[in-house]
Amino acid sequence: SSLMSLHLHFTAAVMTLISFFFFLSQEKQYVGFATLPNQVHRKSVKKGFDFTLMVAGESGMGKSTLVNSLFLTDLYKDRKLLNAEERINQTVEIIKHTVDIEEKGVKLKLTIVDTPGFGDACLEDWKPITDYIDQQFEQYFRDESGLNRKNIQDNRVHCCLYFIPPFGHGLRPVDVEFMKALHEKVNIIPLIAKADCLTPNEIKKLKDRIREEIDKFGIKVYQFPECDSDEDEEFKQLDKELKECTPFAVIGSNTVVEARGQRVRGRLYPWGIVEVENQSHCDFVKLRNMLIRSHMHDLKDVTCDVHYENYRAQCIQEMTSKLAQDNRMESPIPILPLSTPDVDTEKLIKMKDEELKRMQEMLNKMQQQMHEKDQ
Ligand code: GDP
Repeated sequence: SSLMSLHLHFTAAVMTLISFFFFLSQEKQYVGFATLPNQVHRKSVKKGFDFTLMVAGESGMGKSTLVNSLFLTDLYKDRKLLNAEERINQTVEIIKHTVDIEEKGVKLKLTIVDTPGFGDACLEDWKPITDYIDQQFEQYFRDESGLNRKNIQDNRVHCCLYFIPPFGHGLRPVDVEFMKALHEKVNIIPLIAKADCLTPNEIKKLKDRIREEIDKFGIKVYQFPECDSDEDEEFKQLDKELKECTPFAVIGSNTVVEARGQRVRGRLYPWGIVEVENQSHCDFVKLRNMLIRSHMHDLKDVTCDVHYENYRAQCIQEMTSKLAQDNRMESPIPILPLSTPDVDTEKLIKMKDEELKRMQEMLNKMQQQMHEKDQ
């Protein structure tokens, strides 16, 4: 049997050698992982995508009209409009609308989180809104640490469109406070609502002013990611235009009108037609392209990697400190907080180590001398 195993070993070695030389004689071989993007693509298409968009701002700012224009659906079929009295008694109530949209075989589950009531003259309370965002994080955190991690329903809010009224001279205190209350939790994209109320010059001025104020008050709105240097010129130009365009000045409309012989979404005025999708009339197309075609994935990434990660870290920190506190109360022996050794302690350990080494060397020498004497 030992002869047999020797033979087997020999054959295996020869085979390895042959395949090694075969490998060397080949030109560059492809293993095939170049198909990975296709695999990912196929899998994601099959699974479908989801996206949750929050809209916030005073009622009557055109939020629902814009959402309908963006996704070409009537998301607000069942909406009941409240009168002034009802609005006075209303609290900020969060309403979720969900639609499944399919385009060329790609499915998108879109959730619109509406925050009616917020920003109305007597309702400047955004706690329900921040609470809502936190609750979605909490749910995700629970699901993620639970048993069924594979089929988590992601309800985290990926983006918040914040509608700034076109009538003022920049941000109002309520706008500043609202955005500051939310900016660590969600990607905020500020918009100038109902931009057809302003002339191009006025829009430019208002945009400059809002950008300045966003800087001044340290509001962290969604930052478009830096463009890679190897992107083509056209892409770089589009990216630049996009960045310069914020806050987007938008116009919404639920009606289709006839303009220049074509049927378009627009607003018909006695003096003319405002076209929603005309780039010289407003930034609607830029916003739609950015939100749906170019940056949806980045918005989701930032939500996951920055906002959710912040929430998660905070949660874990709170949990550990609570645990340490509970333990301290229960056990008679105080538990020392775990800490990494500071610089001084590390120095001391090093010195002691060296001392030990020296002593060991001395001991060795002494032993050697004794040995020599003995001989
Ligand atoms: P929401 O309460 O913020 O959802 O506002 P709505 O979408 O219900 O719009 C309130 C009113 O503003 C409606 O009469 C809309 O027709 C009108 N509206 C919506 N978008 C625009 C816009 O871009 N420009 C103008 N001038 N009016 C708009």
